[in-house]
Amino acid sequence: MEKDCLFCKIASGQTPTEILFEDDQLVVFKDINPAAPVHLLIVPKKHIRSINDIAEADLPIIGQMHWVAREMARQHGVSSSGYRLFTNVEKGGGQLIFHLHMHLIGGWK
Ligand code: AMP
Ligand code: ZN
Repeated sequence: MEKDCLFCKIASGQTPTEILFEDDQLVVFKDINPAAPVHLLIVPKKHIRSINDIAEADLPIIGQMHWVAREMARQHGVSSSGYRLFTNVEKGGGQLIFHLHMHLIGGWK
């Protein structure tokens, strides 16, 4: 838990947010400023700043993020239509919140 980190606060329940999925490693919630009809954020509970900061010990979390993304896509009806998964890395990559997260967007007509 990193002081003043919004996603740490959401993941720990300190900032009330509708949590769509939770397990021991991750939470999933809707992006507050959706870029698509379905826009979810898949967020590890552990504070990792960005992809640059992943340690080898974190690899199971990265796998779990994809596994859960696949399940969220199914639950939100975009599996067969298709969707994008992406992670912005540091300022030049468009990262605004410096707590690792994966975007799932889809649902366009
Ligand atoms: P990134 O640019 O990859 O760091 O994306 C950060 C995302 O977090 C943006 O798409 C924001 O709209 C989203 N966001 C910021 N604050 C919140 C919040 N309180 N709840 C949900 N999503 C948020
Ligand atoms: Zn954090």
